[in-house]
Amino acid sequence: MKDESKCLHSGYTPKNTEPRVVPIVQSTTFVYDSTEELGKIFDDPTRGLIYSRFANTTVMAVEAKIAELEGGVGAMCTSSGQAATLISILNICKAGESIISVSQIYGGTINLFSYTFKKLGIECIFVDNDASEDELHAAFKPNTKAVFGESLANPALTVMDIEKFARVAHAHSVPLIIDNTLPTPTLCKPFEYGADIIVHSTSKYMDGHALQVGGVIVDSGNFDWTCGNFPEFTEPDMSYHGISYVEVYGKAAYIIKARMQLMRDFGCYPSAHSGFLLNLGLETLAVRMDRYCENALEVAKYLVASAKVEKVCYPGLESDKYYELAQKYLKGASAIISFTIKGGKAAATRFMDSLKMASNVTHLADIRTCVLHPASTTHRQLSDEQLVAAGINPGMVRLSVGLEHVDDIIEDIGQALDNA
Ligand SMILES: *Cc1c(COP(=O)(O)O)cnc(C)c1O
Repeated sequence: MKDESKCLHSGYTPKNTEPRVVPIVQSTTFVYDSTEELGKIFDDPTRGLIYSRFANTTVMAVEAKIAELEGGVGAMCTSSGQAATLISILNICKAGESIISVSQIYGGTINLFSYTFKKLGIECIFVDNDASEDELHAAFKPNTKAVFGESLANPALTVMDIEKFARVAHAHSVPLIIDNTLPTPTLCKPFEYGADIIVHSTSKYMDGHALQVGGVIVDSGNFDWTCGNFPEFTEPDMSYHGISYVEVYGKAAYIIKARMQLMRDFGCYPSAHSGFLLNLGLETLAVRMDRYCENALEVAKYLVASAKVEKVCYPGLESDKYYELAQKYLKGASAIISFTIKGGKAAATRFMDSLKMASNVTHLADIRTCVLHPASTTHRQLSDEQLVAAGINPGMVRLSVGLEHVDDIIEDIGQALDNA
C-alpha cells in the first residue's frame, strides 16, 4: 500500500462482524482464565496484554500503523514527544556514558540533553548540523552510545544530511536516532537513508488537530546490537527473569526492551482514548501533508516578495540554504516557515499581535495557522549564544501554515505586516 492507504488501513483489520473503526479499549487490565495462562504472558509479554501502563489494544493498533508508515519492525507510543526522546536514549545509554546531538533541535530536547541528562550522569556532546564528517568523528568518545538529530529541525529549519550522520554513527557502532516530527513519515523516511531509530512528537502533524500531546518511538530493526557496544541487549536482564533481548526478540530487540523495561518502570503510556484520537488524525495525514506543503510554499514566496521582511527560511524555496538537502530527503518541505521582520523584536511582536485569523500559541503543526516567537517563549531559557547555535534570531517569527484557504492566510499576514 501507498502512504495514503496505510494511513487508513494499517494497524487494524476488522474480522467478520467486528467494528469498522478501531475500538476504544478503555480498560486498565485484561482477564485470563487461568493463573498458568497469565503466568505465560509474564514470561513473554508480547503474546498478550497485561496492563495498560505499558500496552493497550487501541494504542497498539496505532503503533502498528506508525511502524508501517515508517517502515520499521515495531513502535511504542508514549504520553509525549519528550517521553519518546527520553526513552529512546535511556534504552541504550546510562550514567557515565555520552551521546552526540545536533545542536539545531527542539528547545525542550536541548533542555533534556543539557540539563536533565547531566543530572542523570549522561553527557551530551553537541555538533553542528552542517559539521563535516571529520568534525563528527572527532566528537566521539569511547563511551558514546548514540547520535541524535532532527530530519527537519524545529524551529531552525535546518535539514539533516541523514546519510552522512548514519555513516559516521555506524563507523563507531552506535545507532542514529532521528526526530522526524516536522516532516512526518509521509514526507521523510529516515530508515531508507540509514537511520536506526525514529522518534516523533505526535502532538504535531500526526495528531494534526491540536487535541492531545503524545509521542512515539519506531525501531527499524536494522541496528546490530550484538556489535559489543550494548551488553544490555545480549546479556540476561535480571529484572525480566534473565531474558536476553536479542536472543528472544531478534530484530525487534530495541523496541521490546523499551517497553518491557522502561515503559514498565516509567509508565508514561498514552490512554486508549488518546490512541483513538491519534489514529483519527493519522487517517488523513498523507492528504493533509500534501496540502500543507502547497500552502506553505505559496506563503513563503509571498513573504520573500514582501518589502517588510528581511529574511525567510523555508527549505522548499530554491533560495534556501537547505533546498538541495530538502530535495533529497523530503517529499515536501512541510509547513513551518521562519522569517525575520525588518525592525527586530519590537516589529515581530507588533506583527504577531496584529494577526486576526492566525493564533499566537505555543504549538505548531496545527490544522489552523499559528505563530510563535521562539526567543520569548519556547527558547526563552537559552542564552543568546545558545540561541544563535540553535539557529534562532531574536526577531524571528515562527509561522505554522495551516489548512485554511491560502488566500485567507496571505491576507491575514499582509495586514499584520502593514501594522508591524
Ligand atoms: C514538540 C516537539 C517535541 C516535543 O514533543 P511534545 O509532544 O511536546 O512532548 C520534540 N521534538 C520536536 C521536533 C517537536 O516539535
